[in-house]
Amino acid sequence: MEGPGSASQGLPLTEQKLNVDQGGPALTKAASRLPIPGLRPKRPATGENEPPKQDWKRARMGPAPTKRASMSVATLRPKAPLAASVHRSQLVSGRCRSSSRAGVAIGAATTTVMTRRPVPVPAAPKPATTGGEEKKRAPWDLKGQVSDLRIKVGAYKEKTQRLAGENEALKQQLDGLEKELKHAMTENRELGSRASLLASELQVCQNQAEERRQEALELSAQKQQLEETLQSKTRVIGELEGVKREMVEANGDLATRLQTREAELRLAEESLAQRSQDNEMLRAQVAKQEQKLHELEMERRYLHNMVQELKGNIRVFCRVRPLLACEKEAQKGMGHLHFLPDNKSLALSKAEESHTGRERKDDITYEFNFDRVFPPPSSQEDVFEEIALLVQSALDGYHVCIFAYGQTGSGKTYTMEGPDEMSPDTAGMIPRAVQQIFKASREMETKGWKYNFTANFLEIYNESLRDLLVLRSEQSSELEIKRVSQNTEELYVSNLSYIPVTSEKEVLKLLQTAKAHRSVAKTMLNEHSSRSHSLFQLRIEGRNASQDLQTASVLSLVDLAGSERLDKSLSKGERLRETQAINSSLSNLGLVIMALSSKEAHVPYRNSKLTYLLQNSLGGNSKMLMFVNISPLEENFSESLNALRFARKVNECVIGTAQTNRK
Ligand code: ADP
Ligand code: MG
Repeated sequence: MEGPGSASQGLPLTEQKLNVDQGGPALTKAASRLPIPGLRPKRPATGENEPPKQDWKRARMGPAPTKRASMSVATLRPKAPLAASVHRSQLVSGRCRSSSRAGVAIGAATTTVMTRRPVPVPAAPKPATTGGEEKKRAPWDLKGQVSDLRIKVGAYKEKTQRLAGENEALKQQLDGLEKELKHAMTENRELGSRASLLASELQVCQNQAEERRQEALELSAQKQQLEETLQSKTRVIGELEGVKREMVEANGDLATRLQTREAELRLAEESLAQRSQDNEMLRAQVAKQEQKLHELEMERRYLHNMVQELKGNIRVFCRVRPLLACEKEAQKGMGHLHFLPDNKSLALSKAEESHTGRERKDDITYEFNFDRVFPPPSSQEDVFEEIALLVQSALDGYHVCIFAYGQTGSGKTYTMEGPDEMSPDTAGMIPRAVQQIFKASREMETKGWKYNFTANFLEIYNESLRDLLVLRSEQSSELEIKRVSQNTEELYVSNLSYIPVTSEKEVLKLLQTAKAHRSVAKTMLNEHSSRSHSLFQLRIEGRNASQDLQTASVLSLVDLAGSERLDKSLSKGERLRETQAINSSLSNLGLVIMALSSKEAHVPYRNSKLTYLLQNSLGGNSKMLMFVNISPLEENFSESLNALRFARKVNECVIGTAQTNRK
């Protein structure tokens, strides 16, 4: 039979304590004196279903880890509250084997303390027992009971002593453990700080690892990109190599072509040298030809002039206008006019009435011969054809003067200007002459001639001059005929517009301007124009630098005032003066021509403004043409007859050989 002392021997402290608790208050007291109040674990109240204490502890803590496992965990786990880490019974049952780190298990889940054999306590004298159970003394056996009690007391004393010794030993053990604990805590703190150090190091390492990982990712992305670039570059290289191969082939081809071209170039150079030689020869030939051409040109001029001379320096063309629509309606006939087939003769016949009555006597016929007679159907072009050569003379340096003479309404203006200067069908002699001159001047340019042209357009009314290229209102001062200088016969009109022109277009514009200015007083137009002479002049200056030749000539185109003779008895005042002026200027024109023809010493140029102005154009070195315009109407018979007689006089004149105005 085991006593309470022996029963506690070799058992874990917890079990001993439980036994003591059941056994008596003394042990409880002793156990409760343990100086680690915080270490007492909180346990559920003991019940029937409660597992044994050891099992409960295991259940709460989980299966006890092996010593090595707990050691390894203890080194890494952070510091845990000591109360939870060391069970009181374990503290009681044995000291930790060592103060080393491995010897202290920290953390509730890993609490395992190596048990040590408890300090031996001397056994107490056992009370009298029978067969394992305490033998109950008879109530009367007081001695025996006292002796039992003494034994018991002795045993308790022993036990008390033993427990006190044990307590002392435990206290020592506890001190050691506390030291160890302190040490462990210090270590724990160190470990904790080391752990946090390591944790921060770990964090740093993790950050670095993260950076490395990012770098690795970036690098792999770069690598990917580089691989792609490499691939594309490889592709490009492949393509370029293809191109290079093609280029090399093409180069070879080009080299052969270059050789061919070089050979061709050499041949071309040789042929060029040959050509240059030929060219030189041709140039020399051209120079010769040009000289020959010039000689021929001079010959042409000479012959042309001779033809003109043979035709006469004064020529007269007769033109009979057609009947106007209104005249046809009025059944006015032109039976008195007879055109002969030679195109040079015109006959006017008139039945002379007998003195007694209406019976007709024989017709009286008046025949006239001129250089040309243009019957009514003749077109402007037909007429101009005949004077075109005369216009060429103006370019060759001869003064040329073309007049239109006739009664009002006979077709002078139509002949000279035409109803429309711009129309190629009806344009008159002035626009056609201008066109011809510019056309011929362009042709002459190829022969080395250069020309300057100046135009003016004036009107002579009542012996006074008016510039037709400016408005009447703008005309400031009087126009006067003056000499260019004392030593020359060359004349000019002061205050007159002399407009340099370079093309027919510019001249045609001037003609239109003149027409517009003339028609200002439209109601008076016919009357006014019939009483005034209009004079268009184109001054032509030619220069052939290579031949050192210069020419200067004037082409004058004159639309004369109406030649009709007004009945002086009916004219009075202004009208009389007008009539006299017209008559005198027209008759003076006749006189001048006749004086020239008969080579009189004095030519009365200055007797009228018209002849004075035309002084140089009517001289010996000029070519003159007079149109005598005839109305087809029988009622104008007498006027027609007068005009034809005047023209015949002019036609009979022969003015000496014209001289070209060359310098
Ligand atoms: P003038 O100038 O001599 O007074 P015009 O030239 O004004 O005469 O002519 C008088 C009229 O006769 C005008 O209506 C004109 O159009 C017309 N006429 C003159 N000549 C011709 C012609 N050859 N063909 C057609 N009509 C003409
Ligand atoms: Mg007229």
